[in-house]
Amino acid sequence: MPEPLSLARRLDRVSASQTQQVLLAVEALRRQGVDIIDLGAGEPDFPTPEHVNAAAVEAIAAGHTKYTAGPGIAPLREAIAAHYRGRYGIECTPAHIVVTSGGKQGLSNVAMALFGQGDEVITHVPGWPSIVEQIHLAGADAVRVRTAAEEGFDVRADSILEAITPRTRGIVLNSPGNPTGAIMRESELSRLAEGVAGRHIWLILDLCYEQLLYDETPHNLPGVLASRVPGQTVLVGSASKSYAMTGWRCGWILAPPAIAAACNAVQSHSTSHATSITQHAALAALTGPQTCVDLMRDEYRTRRDALVGWITADDRFKITRPAGAFYVFPDVSALLSPEGPRTSSDLALALLNDAHVAVTPGEAFDAPGFLRMSYAASMEQLHEAWARIQRYLS
Ligand code: GLU
Repeated sequence: MPEPLSLARRLDRVSASQTQQVLLAVEALRRQGVDIIDLGAGEPDFPTPEHVNAAAVEAIAAGHTKYTAGPGIAPLREAIAAHYRGRYGIECTPAHIVVTSGGKQGLSNVAMALFGQGDEVITHVPGWPSIVEQIHLAGADAVRVRTAAEEGFDVRADSILEAITPRTRGIVLNSPGNPTGAIMRESELSRLAEGVAGRHIWLILDLCYEQLLYDETPHNLPGVLASRVPGQTVLVGSASKSYAMTGWRCGWILAPPAIAAACNAVQSHSTSHATSITQHAALAALTGPQTCVDLMRDEYRTRRDALVGWITADDRFKITRPAGAFYVFPDVSALLSPEGPRTSSDLALALLNDAHVAVTPGEAFDAPGFLRMSYAASMEQLHEAWARIQRYLS
């Protein structure tokens, strides 16, 4: 018998995204006619704003259906640069910007451009699974620094600095964080930046949820990095969560021009550029009225407060109040036992199949014993989902 054909060795330590797997499971059950409430997928339930859709239709009518420049159309790169100048006061121009097919491709391009065999890249967990897997796909080793639920999943400068070795080439931070909703303190980031200033270590900040902050906490993390380590900083952002544009696939990288050019070189051999129509839609999103963002944020805040209230009242769940993004991430270990469900994965599966509520198990984020519930679902659905979960648990 011939040997079975094998996969590339890089796949030995890379697995399919578990957050994406929940999406698939929900879709399969819905196709069978099962009424699922989906608190699993991390995506806005709001429709894409009307003026954004209209810009895409106009782009098609105007014939913007051909290749664009690799790093993106000039007005969009300028609009992205203007967003970071205006919001955080940092100096940047279109030469710093590469438009990507989603924040995920932005992070992926950065990992491919900056990291390789023998390098270590630090990130914090619980965290979004693609960050670690992209580091592995680039051939580097991911070093996970754990944040604690008892400390509100705060990313501490000291814990990261202690994880640095001579092989460390990068640190990937995500704030507001997926799945915890935690935001990194400016003071901690400042101490971290001071600790790596002048060393061959990149600081990459994933700002995908930057517009979804619910309290008055300061969050000028780009400003902190720009003042301490401008030449070592890479920011990654996205239109997906701010403008309810997940399916359009539009993200971006903001980096020193030579690094932006390297990220564009990587991209030029994969997707070339983000979809032309999407780029016109994203331009309308960034330059048009921002009231849609405010309305969505206000609604998410109301939902967060309600969901946190219900969960806090049930002492089988231990919950930290998230400051941003649209997830709650309770510790459910009190619900687990050898008689079953034994793990948070088992519990998530039981909730899906028996309570018809999709949630994402903590295992997806390197945090067994937790569940992630997205509140990017209507209040009515959240009510019904919580009622179903309570019925199932009793
Ligand atoms: N970022 C979202 C989530 O965590 C979408 C899924 C993904 O692309 O990983 O659910």
